[in-house]
Amino acid sequence: MTKITPQPGIMDIAHYQGGQSHVAGVAHVIKLSSNENPFGPSPKAIEAVRDSAATLHRYPSTDHAPLRDAIGARHGLDPARIICGVGSDEVLQFVAQAYAGPGDEVIYTEHGFSMYPIIARMAGATPVMVPEKDRHVDVDNILAAVTGQTRIVFVTNPGNPTSTMIPESELVRLVEALPDSCLTVIDGAYAEFVDDFDGGASIVDRFDNVIMTRTFSKVYGLGGMRVGWGYAAQSIIDVLNRVRQPFNLSLTALAAAEAAVKDEEFLSHCQAENARLRVWLSDELAKIGVLSDASCTNFILARFTDQAEAEACDDYLKTQGLIVRRVAGYNLPNALRITVGDEDACRRVVEAITAFKEGAA
Ligand SMILES: *Cc1c(COP(=O)(O)O)cnc(C)c1O
Repeated sequence: MTKITPQPGIMDIAHYQGGQSHVAGVAHVIKLSSNENPFGPSPKAIEAVRDSAATLHRYPSTDHAPLRDAIGARHGLDPARIICGVGSDEVLQFVAQAYAGPGDEVIYTEHGFSMYPIIARMAGATPVMVPEKDRHVDVDNILAAVTGQTRIVFVTNPGNPTSTMIPESELVRLVEALPDSCLTVIDGAYAEFVDDFDGGASIVDRFDNVIMTRTFSKVYGLGGMRVGWGYAAQSIIDVLNRVRQPFNLSLTALAAAEAAVKDEEFLSHCQAENARLRVWLSDELAKIGVLSDASCTNFILARFTDQAEAEACDDYLKTQGLIVRRVAGYNLPNALRITVGDEDACRRVVEAITAFKEGAA
């Protein structure tokens, strides 16, 4: 027996389950399980990646100034108060590492992103799950769970896998009611899919104990590149930069993200197509009795009669080359999360679920 033992809490971490991307025996699959952009990355990002190849012998920027400037310009934010990470996951990890440790509690909500409890445990802290109400984050439930040990509250807005939103007034009520010593993280991974929405930036500007995180993995189609960022008070960004490795983002990733954030035309196209198709998809499924909440994201959460029907439908979709996501692990056993693909993918989903409902399975 080895005498080498990991830190307390590490063995309680469940391995992250990613979206499936292959089906045995099916050659051409459409992957709708990880909320990726069906239109791929911006052509300008692809070009920037190619151009970066010639300078791969150079270390990348350590302060990410060009990317932070580009993000700041696009969103009207002070670049000095932005931090970039290897996906927003890394920014979330900085937050937990810097602000929570053994004996501390980290609150997340019932249907919240599965990385939150993982990240809390990585820091040695104790994750505390709070119930939601009909697939919506409930501020009173969060407040009821706060103790003297609570250091961080994670909320996703809009939510994954619920696709619902927390009204701004409720978020402000939450931040105002939390102890000053507690940091609120507003995870805005899907913020770009909501019209005229700042993702929580104005709340960050009002309070010095709030951080907003954002990602290039969803609307920008750069999940494979691993780039995310956070926006908070200068004092928080200063802390997080101390636990950030100096060369956390590769030269190629920085170049791709900078080109992507400057390509407004591609962004608008992806936003418009998603907005159109998510309504179509959810309306068509509603006609055959598969309901979903109005989506504020690039996926819908389709609800079935029970867990058995959801699983049977998932199995049938796989035989049709359509990979969606089971969300029983998110306390939503009777639902499937379906990424809004391109028009062809959405039509195939509706056809397949219709056939399933008519007894094809
Ligand atoms: C996809 C997603 C992220 C993004 O993670 P990255 O590390 O930036 O790829 C963050 N939070 C939620 C809720 C997500 O669904």
